[in-house]
Amino acid sequence: MPAGKRDYYEVLGVSRHASEEEIKKAFRRLAKQYHPDANKEPGAEARFIEINEAYEVLSDPQKRAAYDRYGHAGVGNGSGAGFGGFGGFSDFGSFTTLNDIFETFFAGTAGSQRRTGPQRGADIRYELTITFEEAVFGCQKEIELPRWETCPHCHGSGAQPGTSTARCSSCGGTGEIRRVQQSIFGQFVNVTVCERCRGEGRVITTPCEKCRGQGRVRNNRRVVVNIPAGVDDGINVRVTGEGEVSARGGTPGNLYVILTVKPHPFFKRQGNDIIYELPISFTQAALGDEVEVPTIDGKTATLKIPPGTQSGRSFRLKGLGVPVVHSSARGDQHVIVKVVTPTNLTPEMRRLLEEFARLEREQSEQNDKNIFRNLFEKTKDVFQ
Ligand SMILES: [Zn+2]
Ligand SMILES: [Zn+2]
Repeated sequence: MPAGKRDYYEVLGVSRHASEEEIKKAFRRLAKQYHPDANKEPGAEARFIEINEAYEVLSDPQKRAAYDRYGHAGVGNGSGAGFGGFGGFSDFGSFTTLNDIFETFFAGTAGSQRRTGPQRGADIRYELTITFEEAVFGCQKEIELPRWETCPHCHGSGAQPGTSTARCSSCGGTGEIRRVQQSIFGQFVNVTVCERCRGEGRVITTPCEKCRGQGRVRNNRRVVVNIPAGVDDGINVRVTGEGEVSARGGTPGNLYVILTVKPHPFFKRQGNDIIYELPISFTQAALGDEVEVPTIDGKTATLKIPPGTQSGRSFRLKGLGVPVVHSSARGDQHVIVKVVTPTNLTPEMRRLLEEFARLEREQSEQNDKNIFRNLFEKTKDVFQ
């Protein structure tokens, strides 16, 4: 009999020859006494589970017979797993005795002890808004995260400190449930993780009072997240191991910080390039100029506008864009000029512009004449 597991007859306080009626009576009395709703004493819950387990076996004539013969190893009683099919020996095909079945079930499991173990903790998604500059140059952010953490009282074991765990009776401590199944190809053994102990092979007898046996507690945790330079809107930053801890000591999940980047008042982003729109006057465009433009670095860069620049023309400031994530490379800044039509003209400006307009008309008429003459010369050649 596995250590720490009490005899079922002893649990129900009945003799080995007790009738079905006596077992039922004993169960009803004890279940009432130890029901968690009625009994708040420490250990009552574990006792209640034990009573149920004992009754489940002893109330079933076939399970009881197996238990009488083989003890706890003869009965599985967790969530319909275990040796669920004692009712129909024919399911096992060529097996004739219980001994044969047990030999097959336990062959290979004792030595290998392959356990899936506790499951990995869940991942956490956290949405974080950062500024345009923080996305370009990277930043360190401290965020507050409500999450599951390892219970400090039981250090994640789920067992009340000072108490011991017991070998799982469903799987006999192997963490797996093996069931022989019939198929058209013959018999095969179906191996699943034991549901009762979740593959751990051991069960808690006294749950931790702080986490009620979960091995983890809800906590608000401050986590520092390093945002690398060059990230963009919608990007996930993974922080390995900062997700939820798993119940009872599995690998924790990851934290995924999903970034939203606030728009900048005058810089726009296109991949690793920064777009800046520069308004210039039409005289600057026509005569050319040298202007200072802001860059994301906080300094200004000098830009030469050549005479005769058209609105919409783009100038490149090399290497003043956004850094490529985890690289020393950097995009460019593109300055797109927009020629602004003058308004609020003074009489003097207006007079000069009208004079300018007259000269422009003369020039254009002369141009038209030239074009016409050229065209005329060409067609003359064709027709002659
Ligand atoms: Zn605990
Ligand atoms: Zn188990």
